[in-house]
Amino acid sequence: MMGTVYLVGAGPGDPGLLTVRGKELLEKADCLVYDRLIGPRLLELAPAGCERIDVGKTAGHHTMPQAEICRLLAQKAGQHQTVVRLKGGDPFVFGRGGEECLYLKEQGVPFEVVPGITSAVAGLAAAGIPITHRGIARGFRVYTAHDLADGFGGLDFAQLARTDDTLVLLMGLSRLEEISRRLLQAGKPGHTPAAIISRATLPTQRTARSTLDTIAAEADRLGLESPALIAIGPAVALGQQLNWFENRPLFGRRVLLPCTGPDRRLARLLEEQGAAVQAVQVSRLEPHPEAWASLCKGAGASWAAFTSRNGVKFFFEAARAAGADARCLAGVQIAALGPATAKALEQYGLRADFISPAATGEGLAAALADEMMEDDRLLLVGPEGDPAPCWQSLGVPVIYAPVYRNTAEQTALPAGPFDFAVFTCASAVERCQALAAAEGTTLAARLSGAAAAAMGPVTARAMEQAGLAPIQADSPGYPPLVRLLCRLAAEN
Ligand code: SAH
Repeated sequence: MMGTVYLVGAGPGDPGLLTVRGKELLEKADCLVYDRLIGPRLLELAPAGCERIDVGKTAGHHTMPQAEICRLLAQKAGQHQTVVRLKGGDPFVFGRGGEECLYLKEQGVPFEVVPGITSAVAGLAAAGIPITHRGIARGFRVYTAHDLADGFGGLDFAQLARTDDTLVLLMGLSRLEEISRRLLQAGKPGHTPAAIISRATLPTQRTARSTLDTIAAEADRLGLESPALIAIGPAVALGQQLNWFENRPLFGRRVLLPCTGPDRRLARLLEEQGAAVQAVQVSRLEPHPEAWASLCKGAGASWAAFTSRNGVKFFFEAARAAGADARCLAGVQIAALGPATAKALEQYGLRADFISPAATGEGLAAALADEMMEDDRLLLVGPEGDPAPCWQSLGVPVIYAPVYRNTAEQTALPAGPFDFAVFTCASAVERCQALAAAEGTTLAARLSGAAAAAMGPVTARAMEQAGLAPIQADSPGYPPLVRLLCRLAAEN
């Protein structure tokens, strides 16, 4: 049976600006055919087994001719159920989506079009420019400045010179000088507000804002790169006041975020504030092969202590793999390090009897020491390695069960420079130290000029040992850390 080709608009760049329907289709794509401007975060939405074909085009350098792309789509529809043709912005706005549909129609291949948010509109919004504004711009006109052999394919400059509509030109950065000259020659006033928006909606967005007579020089001075939009008209001036995107607290700040797990919540929180986050997977947590065996040694324990969310997660993974469930803790008192660990336990239907306020193993051990009776036995659940010495001083037998371990990822530290580096655990610090050493340098040297922030005192200690001067938020959790970075960014 013949599959369907879905022409899906990927939106202007920010992966959050994909439509719900687009996401649905990407998540079940058997084959994905995509362009150069599509970011990696969208490509990751496709299932692991999905065939991915990059037909990326650079201006003046077509890696695959259009006719060949059309043939490829039809061919893939013969092999797969769901073929997603992912295109930047909206598929029908200068994306040659129409040509692809005509070809598919001719070949009898079923197709659907999923509109996308076009950069022509969203890019201006990200520069704070309302593309229409009552009393200022009654409409807008979108053109391409590219690919037109006869100098803009008969664009009527005289007419464009007269209108107050917002004029948006795509693919025009390299001809900006010529475009503004022709508009000026046609009588458009030199003081008409104009802006160039490069990499719109991305954390690396940059804009040039001035007037028609100077915009080319200004874009040049700033060294703006494509993809870029040219916006001209009276409404463009509103962008000076409404520049919400670039005024976010962490806008443009480069943040190195070494990760040990798949959790990207902190990265998202930082990005919401405008940061350009470089999340690098430096290591991966995996179940400890002996987890269940060591947990069994703790049978008969009167207390079980969990020191992290990961400990909880891998404990239950080991139990499930062994055919057991939460009942293996029946009658056992449960201690959790901090509220996050307690919350993780609740997800498995267990309420901690004791939650340490301090966010360290020492804190939990010290507080638990008061709870222990003479004949208690404690099962301590944590990562591979020896438990911290503090657990020896509890005065009762402690059975240590490592349920997960940290395996290094083959990766490298991104080049930098960074404004911030954020470490969420001691193992991320150690792993980055090893990566810096492999480059023949030190972590401190690699992060020179960046403010380095720590999640929690244990991480901070590891950072100090690595020669870094950690900054810490005054309370635990991600939001205080994000607020701290925002505050520091505002100070310099
Ligand atoms: N179909 C796309 C446009 C494809 S043409 C859409 O609807 O957005 C490619 C041109 O779009 C680029 O040369 C540039 O002018 C513009 N463009 C696309 N993404 C952009 C972005 N994030 N920032 C600025 N311009 C962008």
